[in-house]
Amino acid sequence: MEITGGCVCGGTRYVLKSPPFSLGDCHCIDCRRSAGAPHVNWGSVPREDLVVTKGEPRKIAHANRIRSFAACCGTHLFFEDAKDSETIDVTIASLDDPAPFAPQKTIWLEDKLPWVKLDESLPSFPKSSKTA
Ligand SMILES: [Zn+2]
Ligand SMILES: [Zn+2]
Repeated sequence: MEITGGCVCGGTRYVLKSPPFSLGDCHCIDCRRSAGAPHVNWGSVPREDLVVTKGEPRKIAHANRIRSFAACCGTHLFFEDAKDSETIDVTIASLDDPAPFAPQKTIWLEDKLPWVKLDESLPSFPKSSKTA
């Protein structure tokens, strides 16, 4: 099973060899800023299941995390807890077909903007669900 995605200009492309899991909608300030959006939907894949097929993402270290952006146009693509983390997070909205990957949880609720309306049917966490 291959799932494809990429940046807005088409200069950076990637393939996922397994469907993303741990689907979450993150409201943290760092995601907000880095995407220029009020919140960002993420999914995780094992590191070896993410293959960049075109272009070279630019990695930015911030707050002890690594965020990857398409060097061509700046689209936010990936997130790593550490250089050697077992999984990499992918921005669900950069997939060619994000429709099947609706969020299953809301994280970093404490940073949520007051005008963002939440899906109350989803479990939510004040911070990361990983450390909670
Ligand atoms: Zn691009
Ligand atoms: Zn975040």
